Amino acid sequence: MIAPKFHVKKNDLVMVVSGKEKGKSCRILRVLPEKKKVIIEKINFIKQHARAHGKQRQGGILEKEAPLHLSNVMLLCEKCNKPVRIGHRIVESSTKARYCRKCGEILDK
Ligand SMILES: [Zn+2]
Repeated sequence: MIAPKFHVKKNDLVMVVSGKEKGKSCRILRVLPEKKKVIIEKINFIKQHARAHGKQRQGGILEKEAPLHLSNVMLLCEKCNKPVRIGHRIVESSTKARYCRKCGEILDK
């Protein structure tokens, strides 16, 4: 199985570029490859009505991050301080790293 390629991954700093959370930025908590979605820390909170499951959980309203589609987020370059297009470059002879196409900053450290 070939892992699909995404422009973002866990712990990336990204900015939301569309939808109601547009303009906000935070780190990616999780990538959901099969859904092409990401969960971003403190972004896109939704209220969920939770049912009580035996003694494991209490019923009530939970707030949690809802996944956002990958196309709604862009990698944020900390140097440019804005969402940027990224390129790939080989660094240290073998490692593939993503870099900011605007300022050239390597974004994988
Ligand atoms: Zn940059």
